[in-house]
Amino acid sequence: MRITDVRTELLRMPLPRPMQSGSSSGKKGGPVSHINMPIVFITTEDGTRGLGYAWSLLGGATATRCVLRDDFAPLLIDEDALDHERLWHKLYRRLQSVGRHGLVIQAQAAVDLALWDIKGKIAGLPVYKLLGGCRESAPVYGSDGGWLYMSVSEMVTAFEGYLAQGMMGVKMKIGHENPQVDIDRVREVRKALGDGAWIAVDANQKWDFPTAMWVGRALEQLGVAWFEEPLLCEDVPGHARLAAALDIPIAMGETLGSRFEFDAYVRANAVDILQPDIIRVGGITEMVKVVTMADVAQLPVAPHHMMESTIQVACGVMSSGPIEYMPWVAGAFAEPAVIKNGRMLPPQQPGLGLEIPEDIIQRFRIE
Ligand code: MG
Repeated sequence: MRITDVRTELLRMPLPRPMQSGSSSGKKGGPVSHINMPIVFITTEDGTRGLGYAWSLLGGATATRCVLRDDFAPLLIDEDALDHERLWHKLYRRLQSVGRHGLVIQAQAAVDLALWDIKGKIAGLPVYKLLGGCRESAPVYGSDGGWLYMSVSEMVTAFEGYLAQGMMGVKMKIGHENPQVDIDRVREVRKALGDGAWIAVDANQKWDFPTAMWVGRALEQLGVAWFEEPLLCEDVPGHARLAAALDIPIAMGETLGSRFEFDAYVRANAVDILQPDIIRVGGITEMVKVVTMADVAQLPVAPHHMMESTIQVACGVMSSGPIEYMPWVAGAFAEPAVIKNGRMLPPQQPGLGLEIPEDIIQRFRIE
């Protein structure tokens, strides 16, 4: 099925709720209000059109779009759109000197999503069925209500809303300059939600080893479900030391690109829960491989947001593991994600089941 056209766009979407984490804040240290969304439409000779997208925060958006338009599009024209595995390797090897981590792999993920969308549309099947159909829904935890700038009462209000919808639990950010502030906030949220509530925390690579160790010990006393990104993602040995010393599970992976970076963590026993991001890891094709690696290592997978496309992998090849409710790009799509009784259901239309209407593109396009 020959590719005849590749169209790229770049959108800037307002976040439903501004974000602020231990690693990301606005110019003056406050919340971040927008997310960038490079998108690609790949059309085949029979008129089938696949949609793929990437995301970036605080930079990289125009560069990602340029990689899609200037580097990948010429490599894709006249190729067979159904050869997702061959094309993944073609793009990965071709751009080896400019990046297998970061914006290049994120651009590649957008292409990969579009190819899977095409494959599903031609097969007449949703992608999760093509992948394996492990389950028909995945539990959701609420993750857009625990930002650093929010007060405890604001967080609790947001979290109670998630729990009232039947979601399995909530995640809050930690990573203040004084970690005691974080522990106090987690303690107050725990007190408000009750001992039985599932609460995870995310430090977004904020700390050095001694601080992370101290925080981890304190979190253990508060019954926290996992300690996410305590250290710089490059520090595999540091995570291994933490994982060995702490009882609380270490979750990590949203900033890792490709299976090779996950492999370093798995081999070093440096992580307890793998968190691939469908875009940063290189798309559906690569994320499926990370899930297989987790299966072999007997490690749980808890994918990092981008729920609208991640649900295909989470239901296609994962028999357990949650979806992170983070509606950052929800405003781009024609239909909202379907969440019933705290579980997300994959779209039943062929392909990814996602559409970005032309009027949305016109409204949010930035170049
Ligand atoms: Mg995180």
